[in-house]
Amino acid sequence: MEFPGVGTGVCRRKFRPRILTAGAWRKPEAARGRRRRPPALSGVVITVFKKIMKKSGSLFVVSGPSGVGKSTLVERVRRRMPELAFSISCTTRPPRGGEINGREYYFLSQEEFEERSRRGEFIEEARIFTNRYGTLREEVVRRMDSGVPVLLDIDVQGARQIRAAAAADARLAAAVVMVMIAPPSLDTVERRLRGRGTDSDGQIALRLAAVRGELANFRLYDYVVVNDDLDTAAAELESVFRAAALRTALIDGGLFND
Ligand code: ADP
Ligand code: 5GP
Repeated sequence: MEFPGVGTGVCRRKFRPRILTAGAWRKPEAARGRRRRPPALSGVVITVFKKIMKKSGSLFVVSGPSGVGKSTLVERVRRRMPELAFSISCTTRPPRGGEINGREYYFLSQEEFEERSRRGEFIEEARIFTNRYGTLREEVVRRMDSGVPVLLDIDVQGARQIRAAAAADARLAAAVVMVMIAPPSLDTVERRLRGRGTDSDGQIALRLAAVRGELANFRLYDYVVVNDDLDTAAAELESVFRAAALRTALIDGGLFND
């Protein structure tokens, strides 16, 4: 799938212009111990720095079996990293109790989903269990262009489509970081799905049947975070994101553009 236009935007880091007056950077010997006087404004202006770094936002992809704890982890990390923009997906599955249209998902009818797909509004889409899911271009590209990191919670089929798009676009390749969330054991997923209490037995059976197959794709990802202890897993995911956001590959041009 074509995923054009993921370019760089301007991430402005504002530095107050620093005016150094001659001699102000070093105190004369005689002045030591005396009360400090502000440097004379009439001094010679040595340098005025203006620094603007152009940077793309990262594209973080998080996948893992249903019930492994992706939403829980992502919510934790987002609380600590409010700069992360979460991409709200479209789905044809009905909302679970407590889910709100436009917060967890955009809940669409089959026809609405089909129409958006036909118009090319999705950068990736997949049929998962009995429903359809898709990531809107609108949720992702403009934010990345303006330097905002974007986070996708999508399945393995979607992650493959993002990898394929990145293989054809060097800028996207530089921005994509993929993390697999794994359970500490296979039994854990069933316990968590049942504990969540939001899915029918039929849906749980479908989700459990897919767990091994999904985890077998772990080499598609750059990192694996095991969600055993929630605090530890959230800290690990956060450190992946924080380190990734500092990659030189995201910088367009030089560090300082005067
Ligand atoms: P996913 O988004 O991957 O489908 P959820 O985030 O909805 O999974 O988590 C499934 C259930 O597991 C929820 O009830 C959640 O509270 C619980 N859970 C998530 N992470 C942990 C953890 N580390 N330890 C115990 N329970 C967890
Ligand atoms: P759930 O129905 O439990 O919210 O999500 C089921 C699965 O759909 C999860 O693995 C989740 O990551 C995946 N998913 C959610 N949104 C998207 C999307 O936009 N695209 C793809 N490919 N998968 C998605």
